[in-house]
Amino acid sequence: MLKFCILASGSSGNCSVIWTEKSAILIDCGCNSKYIIENLVDLKIAFENLAAVITHAHTDHVSASVLSFLRKNNIPLYAHENAFEDLLRKYGSKVEECVKMPFYENFKIKDISVEYFNVYHKDKNISYACGFAFLHKINTKEYKIGYLTDTGKVCDKIIRSLINSNILVIESNYDKIMLDSSLRSRNNKEWVLSDWGHLSNEDAAKSIVKIKAFSKTNDSLKYVFLAHISDHHNTTEIALKTTKEILLNKRISNIKLFVAKRNKRGPVINIT
Ligand SMILES: [Zn+2]
Repeated sequence: MLKFCILASGSSGNCSVIWTEKSAILIDCGCNSKYIIENLVDLKIAFENLAAVITHAHTDHVSASVLSFLRKNNIPLYAHENAFEDLLRKYGSKVEECVKMPFYENFKIKDISVEYFNVYHKDKNISYACGFAFLHKINTKEYKIGYLTDTGKVCDKIIRSLINSNILVIESNYDKIMLDSSLRSRNNKEWVLSDWGHLSNEDAAKSIVKIKAFSKTNDSLKYVFLAHISDHHNTTEIALKTTKEILLNKRISNIKLFVAKRNKRGPVINIT
């Protein structure tokens, strides 16, 4: 069994969970702790099996209230050593008192292998961000979940890290036309558009095409979640339409496409 569910996705909070019989991992925890706890209880995920990994230290990926929850329950917090520096600068003792598990190479949490890769995302508050691939073996078959949010661009190294994913979570943050006409400040727009900001609908769709093309088998990528949809310069409908058009253009029709919701838990996918 390898199950996956997105609890929330967007600039107001990001949190997903992946779990097997033996382990459970929160991927980012930028919602309030009450919401996460309610969902974990509802999904029957025991706290004693739980660990948390985070991509970077922006508030929508790690919140103060979840840090308190992790601390109180002795739940280990995994972050790249550079992301820990950002976290400590931001949250101080709230992080200091957590069970800190800084990583600088790939690692394992019980029966789930975690591979990380650097992404292109920073501003005055954070210096480092990464994406993940989670791997779990059942008998001889290995299953993979790719997780890429918050990146200004997608390079070949990122594509290589995500090929052969069975489930892919990929940021589809903005529609270029909507961003252009939005009322956000010029500085903010320039940062979103930059190589260190966020990913457009088109760039996300083109990345999906590449990941599928380079994967070993044509049907390995079964589920794609478009994530981190902007509230200001994107809509669910536009993100879906843009992605579907680009995939259809490349004659790709055997992927189940979802849009991750801001405040609503998505479906539970069991990929085995
Ligand atoms: Zn961010």
